[in-house]
Amino acid sequence: MKIVTDGLVIREQSIKESDKIITVLTADNGLVTAYANGAKNIKNSKSTASSLLTYSQFVFYKSKDRYVVDEAHAKEVFIALRDDIEKLALAQYFCELAGAVVQEGEPSSEQLRLALNSIYLLCTGSKPAPQIKAAFELRLMALTGFMPSLVCCRECACYEHDGMGFYPDDGSLLCGDCAGISKKRRIVTGRGVTAAMRHCVYAEFQKLFSFSLSEKSLPVLEKAAEEYVVKQLDRSFTTLEFYRSLRSV
Ligand SMILES: [Zn+2]
Repeated sequence: MKIVTDGLVIREQSIKESDKIITVLTADNGLVTAYANGAKNIKNSKSTASSLLTYSQFVFYKSKDRYVVDEAHAKEVFIALRDDIEKLALAQYFCELAGAVVQEGEPSSEQLRLALNSIYLLCTGSKPAPQIKAAFELRLMALTGFMPSLVCCRECACYEHDGMGFYPDDGSLLCGDCAGISKKRRIVTGRGVTAAMRHCVYAEFQKLFSFSLSEKSLPVLEKAAEEYVVKQLDRSFTTLEFYRSLRSV
């Protein structure tokens, strides 16, 4: 059986001198893990197309119970990432996070589109990286079964409040008047950051990245989205830690 599909390479792992195993985020089949024989040889036509952070057209075939890359043709290599270690690190984190939440064999066209658009925007530099990161995280979580509950304060149902706060533990909101009922970690998101978080989760896809926040508010959005990911998935990400280490220099 052959599968012809476009996908983004989100993980590569060497297995022999010239072979590797790659994980590809595809629209129709979710994550596909496949053997790319000979792909470490740069003269091999599959070499570029099966490299991390390359968007390629693949032909996979199934041999026993494993997929093998039959053909691969690169469609987009996101070359701008190579000149910017910080953006590269962030794109790698997007890959690691997608690998943690997208399922094998599940249609994942929105997840793929989100990853491609986020990486493309990182390359163009037209939006601040922390904004792309937060939008990617919140939207990906919402798409993969970790939808936060951002409609209103979970206690009194008010929609807006200067003291609105987000709880990474359960992805809920409590306004300033109701905050006393919880001792859990609270990030005060006020009106602006709460609205931005709602936008990231509920907006039409075409408008996902079309919002702006002040320099003061953007780090709050970044913190809320990142803490939500780490808390919900109960794990750390080496790529995220590396990205953080670059930014703290
Ligand atoms: Zn309330």
